[in-house]
Amino acid sequence: MSQDNANEAVRTHRCGEINTHLAGSAVTVAGWAARIRNMGGLVFVDLRDRYGLVQVVCEGGQPLELAREFRLECVLRVVGTVRPRPEGMVNTEKETGAVEIVAREVEILNGCAPLPFQVDQAQEASEELRLKYRYIHLRHPVMARNLAVRHRAAMAARSFLSSRDFLEVETPLLIKTTPEGARDYVVPSRIHHGQFYALPQSPQLYKQILMASGVDRYFQLARCLRDEDLRKDRQPEHTQIDLEMSFVRETDIYAVVEEMVARIFEEAAGIEVATPFPRISYDDAMNLYGSDKPDLRFGCPMHAVDDLVPGCGFSVFEDAVRAGGTVRCLRAAGLGGWSRKQVDELEALAKKHGAHGLARAKVTADGYDGGIAKFLQPGFAEALRERLGLQDGDLLLAVAGPWDKAVAAMGQVRLEVARLAGWIPEGAWALAWVRNFPLFERTPDGQGWTACHHMFTLPRPEDIAGLETDPGAARAQLYDLVCNGVELGSGSIRIHQRELQERVFRIAGMQPEEYLGKFGFFLDALGYGAPPHGGIALGLDRLVMLMTGSPSLREVIAFPKTTLAASPLDGSPGVISVAQLRELNLAITPPASATVAGDGTDA
Ligand code: ASP
Repeated sequence: MSQDNANEAVRTHRCGEINTHLAGSAVTVAGWAARIRNMGGLVFVDLRDRYGLVQVVCEGGQPLELAREFRLECVLRVVGTVRPRPEGMVNTEKETGAVEIVAREVEILNGCAPLPFQVDQAQEASEELRLKYRYIHLRHPVMARNLAVRHRAAMAARSFLSSRDFLEVETPLLIKTTPEGARDYVVPSRIHHGQFYALPQSPQLYKQILMASGVDRYFQLARCLRDEDLRKDRQPEHTQIDLEMSFVRETDIYAVVEEMVARIFEEAAGIEVATPFPRISYDDAMNLYGSDKPDLRFGCPMHAVDDLVPGCGFSVFEDAVRAGGTVRCLRAAGLGGWSRKQVDELEALAKKHGAHGLARAKVTADGYDGGIAKFLQPGFAEALRERLGLQDGDLLLAVAGPWDKAVAAMGQVRLEVARLAGWIPEGAWALAWVRNFPLFERTPDGQGWTACHHMFTLPRPEDIAGLETDPGAARAQLYDLVCNGVELGSGSIRIHQRELQERVFRIAGMQPEEYLGKFGFFLDALGYGAPPHGGIALGLDRLVMLMTGSPSLREVIAFPKTTLAASPLDGSPGVISVAQLRELNLAITPPASATVAGDGTDA
C-alpha cells in the first residue's frame, strides 16, 4: 500500500464473507493465492484467508498485467467489486461460490518462494516436510478449523469452570520432580551447579497443595511434559484441562465434568452429548469389553462361560479353566457367513494380543457348523446357545486362556468385528465413566507394587485397613472418562492425610528416605491441614482430535514434535554453545554411538 493511502483500510472484508448480499459493492480483500488459473486474457485467483476462499477475476488493466507475477501462496491485496458469477459458474459448495470479485487494482503484499508442497496437497507430502513448513500446512482450511475448534474448546472449558467458581491458577514450570510415572524433562540450574529442575509431567502436587491453601476449586489449561518412549502419536508436550476440588465425592466431580464436557462438545463442535454419562466398573469393563477404555458405541459384550465348561468334553476349554484361566465367547450376530480367511485374520489379531487361538463355529438352525462344532457336546452346545443368545446365522467366537490375555484378546476381536461389520454408528458419542479401579498393580518384574494411576489416589474406606496385607485387593477412588474407546482423562479422590500417604509410598516400594527426599514438601502440606479433595485432568488434544475426527494428535497441535521428539520446524533439540555449557558447569561426553535411526516423523 502506498504511503498516500495510509488511511485506507488494508482490507474492508474477509475473503470468507464475500457473498451475494455484497453484489455491486466495492470491497478490499487480502489473502493468499490458493489457486491461479491463467486463461490468457483472463486470470482467476482463488484468494484464501482464515475465513474462506473467494474468486478474484483479473480481466484487464493493472490487475491483468500484474497477474503474470502471481505465484501460488503469494500474498495479495485486491480492490474490486463484487458481482454474481455468470450462470453455470456458480460453486454451490462454497459460501462465496455464487460471487466473484472483479479486481480494479491488485497489490502483491509479499511473494512466495517455490513451495515444498501445495497447501491442498499437504496430505501427500511427507510428515517431515509438513512439520518443517508447518505454517504452510496450517493454511489448510482443515488445519485452520482444528485450531479454531481447539480455541473454542479451551474457551468453553474456561468460561464454564470460571462460572462455577473455579480459579485458574498457574503452577510453576520449573519444579522438583513429578509423579506421573514417565521420565522427566530436566533443566540444568545455572545458579546451583549440578542441580536440575524438572518440567512438570502434570501439576498434580501443586494442585493438591492449592487445596491445602484453601483455593477450594482450581483449574488450569496445563501444559504437561513427559519424556516417554517413542510411540506412534505421542507428543512430549500435551495440554490438560486440569482441575481439583475440595470437600467433594466422586459424584461431585462427575457432575462438574459432565456439564463441562457437554458444553465443550456443543460450543466447540456443535455436538450434543447426553448427560449424565453411564458408569461402569473396571471389572465390568474388562469382563465385558476386554478393555478399561471400552468403546460403548455398540454392544456385543463378551460372555464368560467358565461355569459351563467343566465336563463339557472340549479339552481346550477344560484345560484353560482347570489351569485357573477362562473361556470368553463372543456372539458375532449374523456373521456366520464370514469366510474362513476373514476369521483367520481375526485369529491373527487375537494371537497378537496374547491368545493361543480363536475358536469359531457357525450357528445353524439345529446346531453348529465348522470350526469347533464337532467338539461341542449337545448339553454344552445348548447351554452356550442360551448364555450368548445365539441364533441361526451367527458366528460363535471363543478364546481360552489366562484371564488377562483372554479378555484383552477378545476385546480386540470385538472391536475388529464391529469395525468390519459396520456396527459402529457414524457420529455416535459414547462417553462413560470407568471406576473402581484397583489401587495397585504389580510392577513389571512381578515383585513389587506400583500405583495404577498415581500414588495420591485414595483407597476405598473399606480397603484402607488391609492395604499392606493385600495391596492387590484394594480398590481406588479412581475414575477414567472414556469416549468412543479413547481415554479422555483420569482422576481420583486423593489421600489428604499424611500418614496414609506415607503408607502408600511404602507399599509402592519407597523407603522414607526416598519419599521424604522427593515428596517431603508435599507431605508437609498434607500435614498442615489439607482438606479432603479430588480432581481430574482431561486431555485437551485428544478431545479436539475426537471432535474434529482427526487421524492424529499432530493435526490438532499447532507445533507438534515428531515421534523422536524433534521439531523439524525450528530444528530443536539443538546443541548449546560452549559458553552456555560453561555457565551451567556442564560437560558433554561424546555420544557412545548413534542413538536413533530414522527421522521419527511417522512411526
Ligand atoms: N495428574 C493426573 C494425570 O495427569 C490427573 C489427575 O489425577 O488429576 O493423569
